[in-house]
Amino acid sequence: MTNPQELAQAFSEMFGAQPRIFRAPGRVNLIGEHTDYNEGFVMPAAIDYFSFVAIAPREDRTITARSDNFPETAELNLDRPMKGRKHWSDYPLGVAVKLEEAGHRLKGADLLIHGDVPIGSGLSSSAAIEVSTALALLDNAGLSIDRLDLAKICQKAENEYVGIRSGIMDQFIACFGKKDTAVMLDCRSLESTPLPLPEDVKLVACNTMVKHQLASSEYNARREECEEGVRILSKHLPNIKSLRDVSIAELGRFGSDLSDVVYRRCRHVITENDRVLRAATALRNGEVSRFGKLMAQSHQSLRDDYEVSCKELDLMVEFANETPDCIGARMTGGGFGGATINLVNSSKVDEFTVHVAKRYADATKIQPEIYVCSAADGADRVLVKDRLPFPACCIRLRP
Ligand code: ADP
Ligand code: MG
Repeated sequence: MTNPQELAQAFSEMFGAQPRIFRAPGRVNLIGEHTDYNEGFVMPAAIDYFSFVAIAPREDRTITARSDNFPETAELNLDRPMKGRKHWSDYPLGVAVKLEEAGHRLKGADLLIHGDVPIGSGLSSSAAIEVSTALALLDNAGLSIDRLDLAKICQKAENEYVGIRSGIMDQFIACFGKKDTAVMLDCRSLESTPLPLPEDVKLVACNTMVKHQLASSEYNARREECEEGVRILSKHLPNIKSLRDVSIAELGRFGSDLSDVVYRRCRHVITENDRVLRAATALRNGEVSRFGKLMAQSHQSLRDDYEVSCKELDLMVEFANETPDCIGARMTGGGFGGATINLVNSSKVDEFTVHVAKRYADATKIQPEIYVCSAADGADRVLVKDRLPFPACCIRLRP
């Protein structure tokens, strides 16, 4: 499938009806890692890789969902909602269940999903599916809701129905992404600041293609270490609610009560929040190389203080930094594998991808996947006649 017409065609052959089509983007996070659950700052951008949902109404109160990326049709009776069952369809069906729980009465529908966001690569195909499905289901029922509420309902679907303890960033940026723009998000107030990106840079995600077992247990351990840091520091700083409220000077003054490990975890979060704010200033002032240096510091802090990197991520960053047109490179996501995010001069993006792919494959014997992206708008309806290609304008390089 290469464009919305083909999705509409496949849908009408399957269900005998003309669908309406909705799409939502994946995302990259430029800086601000492991800060979201500490009520801090992140800086995602929606990307021009999308998930698409084609939808047409049914007479009953059943939702059926198919995806051309997964086998098996899934069904949900809106009057007898079942629990998540560890199936790909938990994401779209969970959104239907949570919309109803929030008081939005839906109508039955057939859904056909087509995703161009690489799945499980840290580009948030999950939020793209959730948000595009939510828009489709609401439109099908003749409803519209506030976008922030929509993002929160999608997050709830992922937290409670799928059972993944994730923050609001992915759903937020899938709803509020803006073309050629990164968005700084305050994860406490949910206030956001658009930050136009320089015209001549690409957002390049390099997938290590590894995911070490440790990832989820270590994620939970980091959250607990941050909570322990807050508990101990609050003896001296009674007004703090999270690491967001602690300055680096205060950590220096009162950190002697913390174990070495907890001290370093706190130092990462506190300095990372500061780096996001400074990165925003750098973007506003057009200081791209300053932005790149902050990305490099973020990677070092994640590697040394937060200890969530791994050999493959470090190599990917090292090889990126060998190229003169890489402005900044760092690991992104939870860590222990997954992807790096790189800011690269547009005119040299081919040289960059070829160099990094070759060096990484030689060193690890693993072929990476590299996604060259531009910042894109958030979720929307797609008119079938628009003849947009899938995906809008990017190259997926599989060396
Ligand atoms: P990611 O980093 O891509 O968000 P997740 O593990 O959070 O990785 O989400 C991936 C899951 O989202 C898939 O296993 C599947 O359940 C769902 N999903 C993503 N894209 C699609 C798709 N195109 N069709 C059906 N389900 C999808
Ligand atoms: Mg996800």
